[in-house]
Amino acid sequence: MGVRVIRKSVRRALSKSNLPGVDFTINPCTGCMHGCIYCYARSYCQKEVGENWGSIVIVKENILEILRKELRRRPSGRVVLSTMTDPYQPLERKEEITRRILEILLINGCKVGIQTKSDLVLRDLDLLVQNLNLVDVGFTITTLDKDFARKIEPHAHSPQRRVRAIEKLSEEGVRTWIFMGPVLPGTDEREIEEIVEIAGKTDSPLYYDKFRIKGFMKSGFAAEMADRAAKTDWKELSQRINKICEKYGVKAIPAFGGA
Ligand code: SF4
Repeated sequence: MGVRVIRKSVRRALSKSNLPGVDFTINPCTGCMHGCIYCYARSYCQKEVGENWGSIVIVKENILEILRKELRRRPSGRVVLSTMTDPYQPLERKEEITRRILEILLINGCKVGIQTKSDLVLRDLDLLVQNLNLVDVGFTITTLDKDFARKIEPHAHSPQRRVRAIEKLSEEGVRTWIFMGPVLPGTDEREIEEIVEIAGKTDSPLYYDKFRIKGFMKSGFAAEMADRAAKTDWKELSQRINKICEKYGVKAIPAFGGA
């Protein structure tokens, strides 16, 4: 995979957030090598990165130093890592920026939520288990079909690797959650049920969100999905998800307050 990595300085590390249950977000990079075809983040970043989604990543080279300064002002609340990029995308293996952000946040007593599609998070299991009262880890699982996942989330770890990672974290006592978002148009009841079952087994609440149609979904498979999403009765789908969650004793939470 040819990815251009650019290094740039930033002026801020933490961003205030209006998301429910999230006080701050921190994104180690702009851009994401996972290159999901539905990724909304591409609409909110520099034009060049958005237009070449998945093949340009800007590493925030001074983010650790800025974060340390910002934490001196003692901001309180839960910090989520990340919302606009995957904190454990492939370059993290070598860069270790996420690991160092995590260390800084935890040493300062911050609550940290991690959201990823990568089992590289298990590399940092030592930090997570030492701070069970501060951390939670969420995995995005949109499908369990390996081939379909490859089509829509081309460079992310397979759903099976994500499931094994969430099971491992849960066994180790780390609080976990699943984000089924976006709910892909055409996802059948059996598949939703299988995802909910994993949530049940790992004692994870299930956040879910509808497929949101964005301006960049103009061609190829993304356009097809957007077209199908426009014909989906979201209210009915949401009711079905809630019913399945009830059956498995899983807490269902519409992400973004269901908006
Ligand atoms: S892993 Fe997340 S941030 Fe990265 S491309 Fe996929 S949806 Fe976007």
